[in-house]
Amino acid sequence: MSLTADPLIVADLGGTWWRTAILTDSDELVEIRRERAVTRNSTRSHPSTLRALMVRFLLDRVHALRAICPEARQVGISIGAAVDARSNLVLASAPLWGDYTEPWNLLAELRSAEPDLEWTLLQDLTALALAARADTDAKAGWRCVSVVTVSSGIGARTIDLATGEFDWDSRGLQGEIGHLPVPTRTPPAVCDCGTIGHLAAYASGRALERDLAASAAALGVAPRTTWLSSLRAALDSENEAATAFLDAHTAPLAATLLAMAVIDPRVDHIYLSGGVVDTLDSHYSASISRGLDEGGGLYLASNHPQGRLDSMIDRLPGDDGTLPLRGAGLAARADRNERR
Ligand SMILES: [Zn+2]
Repeated sequence: MSLTADPLIVADLGGTWWRTAILTDSDELVEIRRERAVTRNSTRSHPSTLRALMVRFLLDRVHALRAICPEARQVGISIGAAVDARSNLVLASAPLWGDYTEPWNLLAELRSAEPDLEWTLLQDLTALALAARADTDAKAGWRCVSVVTVSSGIGARTIDLATGEFDWDSRGLQGEIGHLPVPTRTPPAVCDCGTIGHLAAYASGRALERDLAASAAALGVAPRTTWLSSLRAALDSENEAATAFLDAHTAPLAATLLAMAVIDPRVDHIYLSGGVVDTLDSHYSASISRGLDEGGGLYLASNHPQGRLDSMIDRLPGDDGTLPLRGAGLAARADRNERR
């Protein structure tokens, strides 16, 4: 089957779902497939085994997609792990591998297994930011936007809209906000990275599900397929205890967003994305908005009316979970154009 003149194979390896597809020249995703992520939390396997399974999954899917579309020779991979943007080494992923932090040259393994293919690897947040830049209508005058994902983990990425470039710290990282410590909260919660008290330990999807499983009966939340969908149904039915539960969990993230919005003056907008934002939809935005207002407004800290910042924070448009696939494709295409 010839889908397009110059197709790309794309993959997005998150902490909840692993997706693969073909991205056509006209930026259409076809042959999309979604499978449950293979993680330390779901299997209790050693991360070295999980990494070997990830390579197997990627090679199997690439072979399957090339059987459908043999002319696809370029592969773009978005991974839900901290990636050193200078060396492309995968450093760690709390949702995928817990507290395991052995650097991993995934790209070298893939190139060695399939040297005839061209491989591109980037962190999922970087892919998401590239897709957001391409897909959203930036308002005139916006310099940078930040994307913040709330799913099995939490992270942020800021992109320069004019150039599509990212700034990196000396380790090739940026925006690892999920592992910022938050002011003491009780009871203490352990982050997937193994540390007590990180933002992700209170505000990630896994934290919401853990705490809801423990308190659903007291909150009057009926169990459904997933705890997140149970929470969504309770919020839809205006369950006040469920709203208070959500607000308690979004509060530390709202405080972090407030700091992000005030500290970097180039950031003109913050987009929220990820499975939690997607499932809870307008309830999530409303909860973040209440969290932003909690402190009683700002003084000289922003150029937004009365210091209110909720107008600069909203949900990423067109976000159906496939944007990192698109971003991986954009990065792979840019690599290809550079080589030509
Ligand atoms: Zn952590």
